[in-house]
Amino acid sequence: MSAAAPLSVPTTTSTAAPATPTPTPAKPPGAVAIHVEGVSKTFGTGEAKTMAVREVTFDVHFREMLYIVGPSGSGKTTLLSMISGILRPDTGKVNVEGTDLWAMKENALADFRLAKVGFVFQDFHLFPNLTTVENVAIPLVLKRHKWADAIVEATKVLEVVGLSARAQLRPTRLSGGEQQRVAIARALVSTPDLMILDEPTASLDGDTGKKIVEFVKTQVVGDHRAVVVVTHDDRIYDFADRILHMEDGRMRAGKGVADA
Ligand code: ADP
Ligand code: MG
Repeated sequence: MSAAAPLSVPTTTSTAAPATPTPTPAKPPGAVAIHVEGVSKTFGTGEAKTMAVREVTFDVHFREMLYIVGPSGSGKTTLLSMISGILRPDTGKVNVEGTDLWAMKENALADFRLAKVGFVFQDFHLFPNLTTVENVAIPLVLKRHKWADAIVEATKVLEVVGLSARAQLRPTRLSGGEQQRVAIARALVSTPDLMILDEPTASLDGDTGKKIVEFVKTQVVGDHRAVVVVTHDDRIYDFADRILHMEDGRMRAGKGVADA
């Protein structure tokens, strides 16, 4: 798909939001971005029943890069999905910046997610038929920005992640590290307060993985954002401000944990 033939989303609308969002003011140090209280999720029934997440409680603070680490199958992705408004918990509450996430109506929740949360999926989820810059523009198009304005904003964010030269290529032409940066750029384009990354280095070599996480730490966290990273890649643990551990669906306190 080219810029001349965008998605079947309206490209002009009288209610179009301005392409440049108002800069988010700095958050006070230690302010709570996400409060998670007794959240649980079970999949399946009978023999196939899996308690993926069990009564998990923790806070995420602004200005921090919080890691959630644990072995494969310990419930990390399920937990991320519940705190970012993708998967409804069976029990418990998720409060994002004072809003009870799962008390919202579906439409309001979708808008909230689009405005507040940048989610970087483990396997990138890039659209193979769109160019790099079009992939990055998608969240703004969904927010009904004009296509041309969305491309202008996406171009700026690609510059931030160092991929200007790749803007017109399709993701399949990019390296794993470059695709990961496109996914991060796409999450950043709507200037979300919360950035959530699921195993961001899983398919990258050690050096590339470190560079990606260092970029997130130095360029993304800032004074107005909270970043949650799920990983079991111990090569990147040094970048964490705080680490929480998951095991068998439960969260337990670990290295550097003050309030878990
Ligand atoms: P992690 O991300 O730590 O590897 P997950 O949250 O993906 O763990 O999975 C936790 C447990 O829940 C695993 O046993 C997994 O098989 C199970 N699970 C996750 N998603 C589903 C699903 N949609 N249906 C059934 N079981 C699931
Ligand atoms: Mg996972």
